[in-house]
Amino acid sequence: MTDANPETQAVPVVNRPRGEVVLEAKGLTKHFKVRSKPQRGQRRTRGIVHACEDVNLTLEAGRVTAVVGESGSGKTTVSRMLAQLTKPTSGTITLEGKPAKGYGLRAYRHKVQMVFQDPFASLNPVHSVRYHLARPLKLHKRAGAGKEALAQAVEALLTRVKLAPTNQYIDKLPHELSGGQRQRVAIARALAAGPTVLLADEPISMLDVSIRLGILNLLGELRDNEKLAMLYVTHDIASARYFADTMTVMYAGRVVESGPSLDVTDNPQHPYTRLLLDAAPDPERETPATMQARGSAPSLIDPPSGCRFHPRCPLALPICSEQQPPDISVGEGHVAACWLRHDDYKNTTTTATAGDSPA
Ligand code: SF4
Repeated sequence: MTDANPETQAVPVVNRPRGEVVLEAKGLTKHFKVRSKPQRGQRRTRGIVHACEDVNLTLEAGRVTAVVGESGSGKTTVSRMLAQLTKPTSGTITLEGKPAKGYGLRAYRHKVQMVFQDPFASLNPVHSVRYHLARPLKLHKRAGAGKEALAQAVEALLTRVKLAPTNQYIDKLPHELSGGQRQRVAIARALAAGPTVLLADEPISMLDVSIRLGILNLLGELRDNEKLAMLYVTHDIASARYFADTMTVMYAGRVVESGPSLDVTDNPQHPYTRLLLDAAPDPERETPATMQARGSAPSLIDPPSGCRFHPRCPLALPICSEQQPPDISVGEGHVAACWLRHDDYKNTTTTATAGDSPA
């Protein structure tokens, strides 16, 4: 029997125009309270980890937004707040024009799903692929009545993520699948809820290099054919350039640059973005890296004053340690938070030059 409900068809009919805002975050901030382990004769000390500060992000139908940064940049905290797995300290999240707080958790999860970094850890080792897909279909009432309709819906999901013929996978346990197949099952499980937003947190970083492209291409097809709004969290700016439409670069909990992916990567305006690009492997690059950072990422319990990148920045100005740089427009939809882009400092010659070796 054919499923007449467009919501549960193998590939849902999507009337949403590409570019329509689906999920919007404004001023998203997360502070974690931490306490040190008590040492003999000493009191416990308390502190606050400033994991993420004042992040604005928009996810649009049929587009991928990448959040790029190294470990500790706050990118995963942002995705977890968007998924309502972590409660923001402040800021707002709006889903389809309605405050996220106005949704019940299940209604929100129906529309916003997450794909995690480690597909093995995210699947239950004692349950089959069939169980992993049937459960969300039942929870979110996404299959027609009866066992047959449920089985058809599970098979349709496997087909959507290119695990065909489906009978080769449907009764397997996670350990019987390759890493790439496991991640496809994790994506199918996310799709089972019928989301309009997919949050992918480093979805390829634990996979073999040879199968990464296949997963990105699958996500790209879901974006193009089903108009999913997608967040792609990664430390790999090269894959973000290939895959994402827009890009947000984070450093030490703050957004330092954002804009169309090609503009950000071909014409980076923030020294940190240049450093990320220089660190990315590029077989076509003929000249050596142009910049190197000093030192290592700062503590987020006591983050640097002013621009958080100033202790490492080879181009830092005196004002950089004193005042947080404002967001400065550097092109259409392209913004950088760096004093060097400010009218008052554009022509300043820095004492350190690009190419300085680390201190
Ligand atoms: Fe470097 Fe100053 Fe720009 Fe920060 S604001 S990236 S320290 S030049």
